[in-house]
Amino acid sequence: MHEFHKPLILEEVPVPEIKADEILVQVKAAGMCRTDVQLLDGYFRKYAESKFPLTPGHEIAGIVHKIGSLVPKSAGFEEGDQVVVVGGWGDGTCRHCQEGNTQICSHGQWPGFGPYGGYSEFVPVPSRYLIKVDKSLKAEELAPLTDAGLTPYRGIKKLRNAGALGPNRVLGVVGVGGLGAYAVQYAKLLGGGATVVAFARHPDKLAVAAEYGADHVISTKGKSTADIRKELNNAVGKGDLDAVIDCAGAPEMIRMGFELLAVGGHYSSVGLVGDQIDIPLFPFVAREYTYHGSFWGNYNDLSEIMALAAQGKIKHTVKSITLQDANENLELLRTGDIVGRAVIRF
Ligand SMILES: [Zn+2]
Repeated sequence: MHEFHKPLILEEVPVPEIKADEILVQVKAAGMCRTDVQLLDGYFRKYAESKFPLTPGHEIAGIVHKIGSLVPKSAGFEEGDQVVVVGGWGDGTCRHCQEGNTQICSHGQWPGFGPYGGYSEFVPVPSRYLIKVDKSLKAEELAPLTDAGLTPYRGIKKLRNAGALGPNRVLGVVGVGGLGAYAVQYAKLLGGGATVVAFARHPDKLAVAAEYGADHVISTKGKSTADIRKELNNAVGKGDLDAVIDCAGAPEMIRMGFELLAVGGHYSSVGLVGDQIDIPLFPFVAREYTYHGSFWGNYNDLSEIMALAAQGKIKHTVKSITLQDANENLELLRTGDIVGRAVIRF
């Protein structure tokens, strides 16, 4: 990427050098995220500067190609190991880093938002941000788990840790794109018996949600909140949601989500389609709502997901593409026309 608002350019570059504490990862698969479209569109410009050329791609699975001289033997990496990359590399010193939440470090960096990213064959990665996974797992299924499959996991853990889930609770999964397809599965895995209702516009996405374990699916296309409340009532016996995991972030969906929220409800936001939240204040206060921002995930979150994947507990919808198809698929991401995750295979 050489500038904003222009197609990506495919070009030959030297294989990156690694620092002593880094491992050179040979990328086998890189997930394509809607965030990549936003990066191209300059969505993040007001929050962080971009230096060009920049290589997108923050969902990375690959093979250990070369190990830096200061990577401790006890880390257990060997050339040829299959690994996934934990995004959100912190400075290692601030409170958030010390607590393990390197993805919210104020002095952090992210692969795919600087010189190196997964839309290329090699990426240097500090060894502490790699997780070794069994070779039997498929790289194209692992790559999306590092963001699409990680971000909603953390968002739902926040709901669970806040006591918002459990028996006789209804959890709404709003948006069933790249993230939501995983969210419905985690809603069942982590929900403590909560009833899971998925909301989306496209019938194909609702079908994915039903297949992946949602107890009910409701199409939001062309419907008012009152219509949806009626359908919800028919489905679960009450017209409100005790918790919402919002995987879309579209302004009209956020409005709807809050209108459907029960007294004492919890709302967890991971989707970033819009860039502004506008919700009425009085119900927020008087109905004692709790809002959780949740960003990406940390090493521990991703380790848990890798264990679930190794146990075969996560289903995947992957569309394999080549690097040459990247621009075309960015446009499909922009219009929301990809079911599941597009993954570049090398
Ligand atoms: Zn830090």
